[in-house]
Amino acid sequence: MQKISKIAVLTSGGDAPGMNPCIRAVVRTALYNGLEVVGIRQGYKGLIENDMYDMNKRSVSNILNLGGTILKTARCLPFKEDEGMATAYKHLKEHGIDALVVIGGDGTFTGALRFSKKYPDIAVMGVPGTIDNDLCGSTYTLGFDTATNTVIEAIDKIRDTADAHDRLFFIEVMGRDSGAIALRAGISCGAEAILLPEKQTAIEDLIKNLKEGHMNKKSSSIVIVAEGDKNGGVYDVAKAVQKEVKNYDIKVTILGHLQRGGSPSSFDRILGSRLGFAAVNALIAGESQKMVGLQANNIVLTSLEDALNHHEFKLEADLLQMVDILSI
Ligand code: ADP
Repeated sequence: MQKISKIAVLTSGGDAPGMNPCIRAVVRTALYNGLEVVGIRQGYKGLIENDMYDMNKRSVSNILNLGGTILKTARCLPFKEDEGMATAYKHLKEHGIDALVVIGGDGTFTGALRFSKKYPDIAVMGVPGTIDNDLCGSTYTLGFDTATNTVIEAIDKIRDTADAHDRLFFIEVMGRDSGAIALRAGISCGAEAILLPEKQTAIEDLIKNLKEGHMNKKSSSIVIVAEGDKNGGVYDVAKAVQKEVKNYDIKVTILGHLQRGGSPSSFDRILGSRLGFAAVNALIAGESQKMVGLQANNIVLTSLEDALNHHEFKLEADLLQMVDILSI
């Protein structure tokens, strides 16, 4: 078993609330165990550009409540090339780093796995940090709970005005490949319909549903459209419905990047702390090429390969079933 003495931590890809509590846990767990810790700025970009600094206990003071990531994040195309990976490896070796904690989503894990296969003397441990909740091996990913709460707060406000004016709102939420936020927020806000990338909804069925709602004296309707819905985007859907549904005043709202920001929820602070703590302990135990995740409220290690296997990831069947039933 390879004994580690110096670890590095980075955040990469899309930022997610909860990354800071996780960084804090990584740094303090490592220091507690006598390891040195290096923070890498801007994900893989900082690895390639040698942008890293030694972290101490105070480097992570008062960050539990902060959204975003104190280490910054970036998308970095050069890391996909052999040359970029070789430069990253050279810098890690120069700093005497023997293990790496990567906090990010599926792109980040794909990079980490490729890198670790090429350079197995650097142990890597993934922490699922993405608002999309789309990684196998963890029931929840960091940031998903906060982002969903943010979306709920916004939709509740939209419902007030929709109701006051007999309006039909189409609200676009984040999720190019994953309908996790759309589904949870939709159930939580009593959306009349939820359009998801994972499930094709025919526009005719949507129109029928909305007309029925109006006949049943609904004074407002809300349709949540995940970015990745296959009907051509929120404006196309609204236009198609407008032709057929005349009784409502139709409006479109795109929630956009506000969904990424904000102070992490209690859940994400605890999850970030647990996963950061577990990631360092797993590295100390000699693990590599794995992801730490939460299953049935227990910390579980999953190989990065399995974590990236989207085909196994599914939205909860009961939630999908409830959408139409609970909004009659
Ligand atoms: P996320 O981790 O949130 O899914 P991205 O998909 O943007 O975000 O991935 C983050 C970074 O991971 C990319 O900018 C790139 O540096 C790295 N990455 C993604 N895919 C690969 C790959 N196939 N090989 C190497 N690195 C990759």
